[in-house]
Amino acid sequence: MFQWTFRKQISAVLLLTCAAAPLCGQTPREPAAPTHADILRGGYGPYRANNDLQFYHLDIRVDPEKKFISGKNTIRFKMLQDGTRIQLDLHAALNVDKILLGDTPLKYERDSGAVFVDFPETLHAGRVYSIDFYYSGNPLETGRFGGITFKKDSSGHTWINTACEGTGASLWWPDKDQWRDEVENMQISVAIPNDLVDVSNGKFMGKTDLGDGYTRWDWLVQYPINNYDVSLNIGNYQHFSDKLGNLPLDFYALPEDLDKAKKQFAQAKGMLEAYQHYFGEYPFIKDGYKLIEAPYSGMEHQSAVTYGNHFANGYLERDWTGVGISTRFDFIIIHESAHEWFGNSVTAADVSDMWIHEGWATYLECLFVEYTYGKEDGLKYTNAYKSKVRNQQPIITQRGVNRTPPQDMYFKGALFLNTLRSVVNDDKRWWKLIHDFYQHFKYRNIMTEDVVAYFNQKTGMNLTPVFDEYLRHAALPALELKFDEANGVVSYRWKADETAFAMPVRVGAKDHWQIIQPTAEWKTMKTPLKKDEFQVATDLYYVGVSKQ
Ligand SMILES: [Zn+2]
Repeated sequence: MFQWTFRKQISAVLLLTCAAAPLCGQTPREPAAPTHADILRGGYGPYRANNDLQFYHLDIRVDPEKKFISGKNTIRFKMLQDGTRIQLDLHAALNVDKILLGDTPLKYERDSGAVFVDFPETLHAGRVYSIDFYYSGNPLETGRFGGITFKKDSSGHTWINTACEGTGASLWWPDKDQWRDEVENMQISVAIPNDLVDVSNGKFMGKTDLGDGYTRWDWLVQYPINNYDVSLNIGNYQHFSDKLGNLPLDFYALPEDLDKAKKQFAQAKGMLEAYQHYFGEYPFIKDGYKLIEAPYSGMEHQSAVTYGNHFANGYLERDWTGVGISTRFDFIIIHESAHEWFGNSVTAADVSDMWIHEGWATYLECLFVEYTYGKEDGLKYTNAYKSKVRNQQPIITQRGVNRTPPQDMYFKGALFLNTLRSVVNDDKRWWKLIHDFYQHFKYRNIMTEDVVAYFNQKTGMNLTPVFDEYLRHAALPALELKFDEANGVVSYRWKADETAFAMPVRVGAKDHWQIIQPTAEWKTMKTPLKKDEFQVATDLYYVGVSKQ
């Protein structure tokens, strides 16, 4: 996701405002207590944990004039424990028409967005069950991207799109709306007026004229998919296609933008080549890669990335990082597509650990720059993100609560990964490490603990205090330096929230860096350098420095 928008430019460095406005203040603030609804949505309670999703068939009809959705989701799940109740979700604005197990109507109880479904007999552990959840109504347009929007394009044609990561997919369809559990695959059937096109996720399986002025478009997702990635893009779309090796590339744009799209979307190939270079094959090769014009900036919908970046380089026609590099490529194509690897393939199991999506996707932008324009530009691009970091709240937030973490998960997340590369201090090893990390966890839902354990095991280092310092505390670690120039001695120590933080760091003079391993205790070293000559490699390590 990328949800920051530009407001009137105040200065060269402060270009963004964040969606979570209360987080943008100048002083650290405690987040407000989570609501009952946030806990119901974000938690993984007993009626979620007692089952494992296998399959959805979302089969709906969308009436553009009435802004009305009706249909059903067939939900197949395996029970992990015996039980008589499961928890699903559907926004309170939508009606539950009926829920069937075979022909048997099931009782249910609604509590804010949650729907607790009760079974007349015990469901048994290890067995697979399937229910049909019928629903209808006018979904609410809410959130920065609208969640689901019923718009008209500039030619007056229907244009309906979804983007519901924060609000949740249950805004417009019933599902088990959390991050931990994903279906293995999914069918999406969307009936719409005959003159329109629906582009959803997965492989296009065909369309059927229903004979009543509507045509059903069928899509098949052949990989695990998170709920918020499931999408509708209904409009007067024109289609063009290409290939990258065996990978089908499908592009959809409105007729008036087709020529611009053909030019701009060509950047998808270089992006895919860069990410495949670092992490291996595009994760959803059977489903193909799609790029679809949308009325908001962009979203990483799995195998169906949406795009609304004005067919121009940079982000919304601006130099996003302010150092000239971002104007060479289309920020939204590069950022949102990075989520195919981190976000869609490797997925956080709880929104609290969303840096696994956004920190990594932002770091992948930096890797794209390094791959395409060289290491120096990669570093310049990465470090330009320092201007967007606030260091006011930890990146990892409270578990089990439906709340988007602070924006530092993007920029500080990427700067942290660049720091980790310097800690590993061997690029060949680093490339193998991040490649193997991705390969190990692809198609899985993981937490930060899994990331840390993997990095510790593969490097043989104890990186836990480093991960914790950057991800679980608000402030940046600072290297404190005290100079005794007369004797050619400098004292150094870390000022950090993690007492065991002992990250090595390069100091001295550029081109002759010396690696030291400060701890919380003062240590000393000899140096011929004066206080103002003595440098810390802050482009390689995201740290504060204080000299006395
Ligand atoms: Zn993102």
